[in-house]
Amino acid sequence: MNSKFFKRTKIVATIGPAVDSPEGIQSLIDAGVNIFRLNTSHGTMEDHLEKFKTIRSVCEKNDSYCAIMIDLQGPKIRVGNLDSEINLNNGDKVIFAHNAKQNEGIIPVDYEGIASDVEKGSRILLDDGKIQAVVDEVKDNKVFATITNGGILKSRKGLNIPGSTNSLDAVTKKDIEYIKFAVENKADYIALSFVRQKEDVLLAKKYINDFGADIPVIAKMEKPQAIENIESIVSVADCVMVARGDLGIELSPVEVPICQKKIIEECNKQKKPVIVATQMLESMIEEPIPTRAESSDVANAILDGADAVMLSAETSVGKFAIKAVETMTQIAHTVENSKFYRFDNDFKISEEMALTRQAVAFGADKMLKYVNAKALLTFSHFGYSTRLVSKLKPSVPIILVSDNKQTCRKMALYWGVFPHYKMWDDVLDQKLLINIDNFLINEVNLKKGDYVIITGSAPKLISGRTNFIRVHRIGT
Ligand code: PGA
Ligand code: MN
Repeated sequence: MNSKFFKRTKIVATIGPAVDSPEGIQSLIDAGVNIFRLNTSHGTMEDHLEKFKTIRSVCEKNDSYCAIMIDLQGPKIRVGNLDSEINLNNGDKVIFAHNAKQNEGIIPVDYEGIASDVEKGSRILLDDGKIQAVVDEVKDNKVFATITNGGILKSRKGLNIPGSTNSLDAVTKKDIEYIKFAVENKADYIALSFVRQKEDVLLAKKYINDFGADIPVIAKMEKPQAIENIESIVSVADCVMVARGDLGIELSPVEVPICQKKIIEECNKQKKPVIVATQMLESMIEEPIPTRAESSDVANAILDGADAVMLSAETSVGKFAIKAVETMTQIAHTVENSKFYRFDNDFKISEEMALTRQAVAFGADKMLKYVNAKALLTFSHFGYSTRLVSKLKPSVPIILVSDNKQTCRKMALYWGVFPHYKMWDDVLDQKLLINIDNFLINEVNLKKGDYVIITGSAPKLISGRTNFIRVHRIGT
């Protein structure tokens, strides 16, 4: 089997100035990247468009199907523009106010609802939680607070109010512009930050639909309310991200590991893909090798059942971007081939999903071992059935054949799926089987005599609902 099938856990890489040339993008793909993330919290729309076009053209040139994710900033509150840094010491009294000018003790905030979303005792966290304050009083639309954890505050730093922020729009004006951007450029995924409830995801979907598209939405779990509403959020999202950066600020870093397991468990139950993100190989921003804690973290996320793992600053601004991806690939490879990577494939049939598809996915996975099959070949136009197969984490690569390039790119996010684009929407007769055999031998590196399990639809192979399983022996 080709070595490219070694890694079945998918890798998301955030793109930034560290690697954004065509050669750089190609090296990232070669190192194991499947999804490129454009983080709209940074950079201009022109920057993102440039990166988008580079990624697409590199992928098209060599027929690689990689997905592009537009990550919306969401309702992220920031400190306003400061003329100079503010040195904050424990016990200092400060006032947070919307639209205020920096002044003795006054910290401007870019959020109108700041005074209505906090009360005495609320915590306000600045710069990724490095600086903390507790609210003493809210008066005249101003928030009076005491610094409990000092530090130097710079302009435009992030501000978190754990739990609260109910009056913030789930999808901001800036997000809507980027949704339009994503639709116009045919992005494969849109990630929504600071999701609090399922309505937030539905609202993003409504905007996407209003622009005439149906781009899948990734719900980023980074607020305490999202953990409370986990079941309903997962049910409406197409994919979920364990966004440990902000989650660690809003809750506490010590709660992140158990939240991660909870979110993964829920996603597996509801058969939705899940990405574990942030600080996975953080020290590789500066160093060529990870700490042992970091390599263990990546391995444990995969062992927990993550479908994908993500790199942020490691690839966007890090000194060892390619090395970080290679390291992640090697960790995934080592974990996937260890005896500890075992999944109980017994999944419960959900009443809300097409029963035939679920039965085919479950049956195909079970059949693999009886003939020692080398691959699971799925034919699919939209990828619904392939998603179910992916969630079963079968023991062999899932070779997806689709007549839809968009599906090929989208499915790059799904665990164990290797997408191929073919116009084979025909009945599975002798002629097509010969094509399939040639494809399996020449492009998948299988041999004559190898068994594969094929799923598809009849009478048309690709379009239609998956309804058959075939045990096939190559060349016979
Ligand atoms: P971000 O999201 O990098 O866009 O903030 C991920 C996280 O918070 O972990
Ligand atoms: Mn975040």
